[in-house]
Order: sequence, then C-alpha cells, then structure tokens
Amino acid sequence: MSSDLHDHSTLHERRHVLPVDEEELVACVSCGLCLPHCPTYRVTGLESRSPRGRITAMRAVELEGAPLDAAFVDTMETCIQCRGCESACPSGVPFGHLMEGTRAALHQQPRAGRPRPWHQRAGEWFAYVVLLPRHGLLIALTWLVLVGQRLHLVPRRFGIPKLSPRSLRRPLEADADPDVYLFPGCVMDAWQRDVHRDALRVMRATGARPGLPGAGGDCCGALHVHAGRVAEARKLARKVMASIPGDAPIVVDSAGCGAAMKDYGRLVGTPEAGAFAARVRDFSEWVAEQTAAGAPLPLRDTGRDIVVQDPCHLRHVQHCEAGVRRVLAPAYRLHDTADDGLCCGAGGAYSVFEPALSGEVRDRKVAALRAAAHDATGRDRKGGLVVVSANPGCSMHLAAAGLDVKHPAELLAAALDTTRPERQEREEEEQSRA
Ligand code: SF4
Ligand code: SF4
Repeated sequence: MSSDLHDHSTLHERRHVLPVDEEELVACVSCGLCLPHCPTYRVTGLESRSPRGRITAMRAVELEGAPLDAAFVDTMETCIQCRGCESACPSGVPFGHLMEGTRAALHQQPRAGRPRPWHQRAGEWFAYVVLLPRHGLLIALTWLVLVGQRLHLVPRRFGIPKLSPRSLRRPLEADADPDVYLFPGCVMDAWQRDVHRDALRVMRATGARPGLPGAGGDCCGALHVHAGRVAEARKLARKVMASIPGDAPIVVDSAGCGAAMKDYGRLVGTPEAGAFAARVRDFSEWVAEQTAAGAPLPLRDTGRDIVVQDPCHLRHVQHCEAGVRRVLAPAYRLHDTADDGLCCGAGGAYSVFEPALSGEVRDRKVAALRAAAHDATGRDRKGGLVVVSANPGCSMHLAAAGLDVKHPAELLAAALDTTRPERQEREEEEQSRA
C-alpha cells in the first residue's frame, strides 16, 4: 500500500471516468481504521475487498490512468454499500458518494472489465426498468409467486415471506385529511403489506391521521441508486415527490427506502427535492418524536426478549437507529449484538449477485445475533430467538437463514394496550371521525 496516496503531487490529471468529487476522492489518509468495520474485508482479509483498497483502486482509475478492468469491477461490485466504513472513518471520507459515482460509471459502461451475460442484463432490465416502477405488474407477479409457494416451488432460502391472498387482496386504507403520510414502496408493499398495516395502526394509536401517496408514488429508486442507475432513480424520485404534495411528514418503514428519500436533495438537485427530503422520517424515528411531543403509545410490557439488528441504512446512513430502541423499550427486553453494527450482507440486490460473499457475511451476523440472545438470557436460542429489523431486505435475508425476524411496527402493534384509557379515547375519536 502506497503511503503517499493522499499526496496530490503524485497524482496525474483527472480522467473524468468516475463521476466523483475530487476532494472527496483524495480525502482518505489510508489509516486503515475502517477495515475492521468492513464486512467484506472481515470475511476475505483482502485489501482489495476493503474500503481503503477500493478508494485506492478508484484513484488509480481516475488519477493514474489505470483501466476499468475485471479486477476493478470485482473490487467495486463486491462492496455491499453498507457504509460501515463511513461511520468509522475519522477523516469523514464520504465513501457512499464515491461508491455511488463509481457504480454509476460502471452502469454507463457495461462492457467494462466484467461484462454480464446477456440473460443477466435482460433480467436486470426487466426488474429495474419494467417491474419495480409498475406496481400493478409487481403485484400480479407476486400472485404467481404465491401460487409457487403453495406448490412448494419457491425455496425458503430465497427469503420471500409467506405471502397471503387475504393481505394481497386488501389495499391499505388511508385516513381523510391526513396530517402524516406512510410511504409503502414497491417490493415491501407486495411482500410485506401486513407490516404497513401494523405501521398504520401504530401511527393512528398516537392520534395521527395517516394518508398514502397518490398515483405514481410506487418506487423510491433506492435499488436503482444502489445499482448505479442514477437517471432512472431520479425519474422515480420526481414521481414520488409529485405523489405526496404538501408539507406533512412522510413516514418510511423501510430503512433502505428512507435513506434514499432523505437524499433526494442531492439526487434530484433542486430546492423542492431538498424540502421533500426534510419531510422524510424513519418509522421508529417518527414514533419516538410523537412520544417526545407528548403522544406516547399505550404499550403493555410483554416481557419478551428481542435482539436488535441495526440495518446499515438506518445506522450508518440515517443515523437514527436509537429510535428503534427508544420506542420498543417500554414493551420488550432489548439486547444488542457485540459486532458494532456490522452488516448482514443484504444490501439492495447484493445477495442475488454476490451470493457466496453475502452468505459468509450473513453467517457472522447470525452468529452475533445468537450470541447476543445467549449472553442475555443464558439460554441457547436456536429456536425461539426473535430479531427486530427495520429493513425488509435485511429481514428477508436473515429469515432465509432460519431466524424469526419482526419489524418494529409488528412488535409495537402486538404490544398496543387496548385496555388503557388513552387508547380507548383515541379509538372512540377515530370512530366518531369515521
Ligand atoms: S460500504 Fe461496506 S462493504 Fe463497502 S467498503 Fe464500506 S464497509 Fe466495506
Ligand atoms: S478510515 Fe477513512 S481515512 Fe482511514 S483508510 Fe478508511 S476511508 Fe481512508
């Protein structure tokens, strides 16, 4: 590893191959303090699978004339984009921006280094361009998956939750004259709609009147940004913004979607997008705010043990993982893992394109979650271990490894104390409004 990587005098003219900020590119001082926080480095021990190695490779391409070859593509595509390195970096290197710019360049130059086979490119085009932005089509395909599940044709390792015809048939219900919105998104609304139902129930229990986006607000573009498909993500962001006018807060119960929507100001680059992004709240963050503002949830103490998994996009990007603990603490005994929030290996479509590495990263996470349960309860919880995760991608990835994973909204809804007077008052109010 060269010790003069941050010395500008050793660098050549920029080639403008990677759309990244030069100051951000040269900000890394190669200290290596981020390495233990990088899941792909922890698993492989390879410098080329570390944040420092990835930044070095970006500089070599952008400033030293290195080619966009197969090794470069591998180095970049094996990054989960968890941004654990960003949280750990004492120099404040915005690794997420650097990686997003690099992935955008690789998407623009699909023949660079490691061209994907035609069927994979066709599959990606169908998923990103045709399926995700068209919610009706996604729901139709979900019915086919449901039939496949009933015929035992969909392996459990795919992590798709058990789909329910009752849930798919019933659309979510919005309140009239909303003072807050819930953003249901694309895949989560198709595969985990009951989580949204629980989120709406909890929001109403605080006294709020939740609404839903209008036409066009189907997909936030988070998966597109992850894959470097920035122009498509921008188009989707504009549609989402148009579907939720006004200035009421927008609650997002998927950590990945919430992180993307909080970054619309940078993605779209207009003051309107910045103002929209400022309205976005993670579900638990919003519930915690209501509690602090004097609208606490009527919860009963369930006495149940729950191990907390912090989704990277909640902890390292939104920086609001404390909200999950704050809102669940009155009802559950919460336990943390000792791995300092290391990624679980999901990361957008990472588990599809890098299944081996993703699986190894997940094995470590599962061991950390089980150890946390064991340390807290003194029992080996192979079965009966309940994990809370605020991101559907993480939740499906961990469920595919056999864990029972719940969303904070599910746990809160299950702990709502319907016998408490304030709850009864609110329900009466809701009934009189209806
Ligand atoms: S984003 Fe995550 S996987 Fe990628 S370099 Fe940083 S810590 Fe490693
Ligand atoms: S901690 Fe920051 S400055 Fe140090 S090697 Fe990692 S990215 Fe570079």
